[in-house]
Amino acid sequence: MLSMVARHANDSIFLSDKDRRIFWVNDSFTRITGYTLEEAMGRTPAELFNSPNTDVRTIEAIQARIEAFEAARGEILNVTKDGREIWIETNIVPVHSDDGDIEMFVAIERDITATKKHAEELAIARQKAEEGSRTKSAFLATMSHEIRTPMNGVIGMAELIGESALNAEQSQYVKTIRNSADSLLKIIDDILDFSKLDAGKLEIDPVDFAPGPCILDVIDLLRQKASAKDLYLDTNFNTRLPAWLRGDDGRLRQILINLIGNAIKFTKTGGVTVDVSHQKTGRKFKLSIDVRDTGIGIAKDQLGHVFDHFSQADAATTREFGGTGLGLSISRLLARQMGGEIKVHSVEGEGSTFTLIVEMEAAQEHVPVAKDDEAIETPENLLGLRVLLAEDNATNRMLVERLLAKYQIELEAVSNGVDAVQAVGRREFDVVLMDMSMPRMDGIAATRKIREQFGQGPQIVALTANAFSSDKAACLAAGMDDFLSKPVRRAELVSALLRARKRLDEQPVTRKFG
Ligand code: ADP
Repeated sequence: MLSMVARHANDSIFLSDKDRRIFWVNDSFTRITGYTLEEAMGRTPAELFNSPNTDVRTIEAIQARIEAFEAARGEILNVTKDGREIWIETNIVPVHSDDGDIEMFVAIERDITATKKHAEELAIARQKAEEGSRTKSAFLATMSHEIRTPMNGVIGMAELIGESALNAEQSQYVKTIRNSADSLLKIIDDILDFSKLDAGKLEIDPVDFAPGPCILDVIDLLRQKASAKDLYLDTNFNTRLPAWLRGDDGRLRQILINLIGNAIKFTKTGGVTVDVSHQKTGRKFKLSIDVRDTGIGIAKDQLGHVFDHFSQADAATTREFGGTGLGLSISRLLARQMGGEIKVHSVEGEGSTFTLIVEMEAAQEHVPVAKDDEAIETPENLLGLRVLLAEDNATNRMLVERLLAKYQIELEAVSNGVDAVQAVGRREFDVVLMDMSMPRMDGIAATRKIREQFGQGPQIVALTANAFSSDKAACLAAGMDDFLSKPVRRAELVSALLRARKRLDEQPVTRKFG
């Protein structure tokens, strides 16, 4: 029975003597290798099967084991009688005689060419998929960058038109441009975040910040939206929050804007209540924020899906309320990155409660209580400020010039990094507004040159369409002092100039000339 098994086995089986000379093979051996017993008789597997591409180290490893009278296995590339290369998984077992000597070897071999090929194809497919995903992320990042730049012109110019004398109808048009541009920008930001999250690249950028004012800022920002719909928007601080925490306030804001924004969006009567509390364990603070609305609620069968990418409770939602269905999935991922979670409880027709939990550390050091932009309404602080604008895009140059026109600032503009460095050498500037991507020399390189040649001289404020913390870090590392992301709005531009002004007042004069 045993010999029958050997003869008819699907695997190739052959027996060789102690010098590895073959003396018996089964039918599968012939089918797989092409050699009959007569052809194989008296020859070694190495003579018959080794191809120039066979991995010598695998052969040597097998050799070493069987010389030590041990069973060996391995995967080797063999060549058949008609010259085809095949992958073989071989198992070789030495058989001992009674006196302990090797009597013969039993080799059982299986053709794994198809499996190998399959694995190779899988690896290639996987590599392609990974490349595809990277390309997609890079594409999305580039696209949103490219879209941001012209959006700067659209939003800025609309802001300027809005300030000129307009009749009611025209004001309404301008307002619509502004609102549409803002929504477009929000979508771009969402897509960008999403592509970063997808690529595992979204970073949390912790700073010391004041949690109470941060939350109230968001409420203030959205109050207008709530009262336009006749909804109440209440906030309760149920515990006394610490004055300072260390965390990513920008991301916290982003999540709250999404949650409270949704609550207002999906509520027709009644309103929204925001309950804030915290728990302290050691140096860690667990912030818990409930956003409760009296809105349309979410059906039971949809509740599990509202956090999925691009998911909205139903198609009618999109028609009635707009949105991309990305907000909640991004918010949840962000909350998880901050050591927390977002949960939802909802009854259809009665309302929803979204609970955000994030973990933050105590602030590292005592932070002075200073609100940099409190002086925004006092433009005389900017009187006579000498500002150099380095920006290659003519529309954006005009925009900044117009935005600053009423402040009596001395503004000079150049269109590339080389000219910016030269201008700083030619005369003294208080502030340089530095675009990042410019022809001839980019903003980072120009900043390094200016710092090298003129020391701490002017305050340098980056003006860029890349709104990430890593870009921010690169700007600061090159010697910039502050960071403004496009599209630039007047309020932000003016506060950045005021901050620069304040730092200039505090800084000892260290400018090197020549
Ligand atoms: P978007 O608001 O852009 O559609 P989100 O990811 O923020 O995307 O929300 C996904 C879906 O979850 C919404 O389309 C809506 O169906 C549902 N949803 C979110 N918040 C609420 C809420 N407060 N009340 C009712 N439905 C909500």
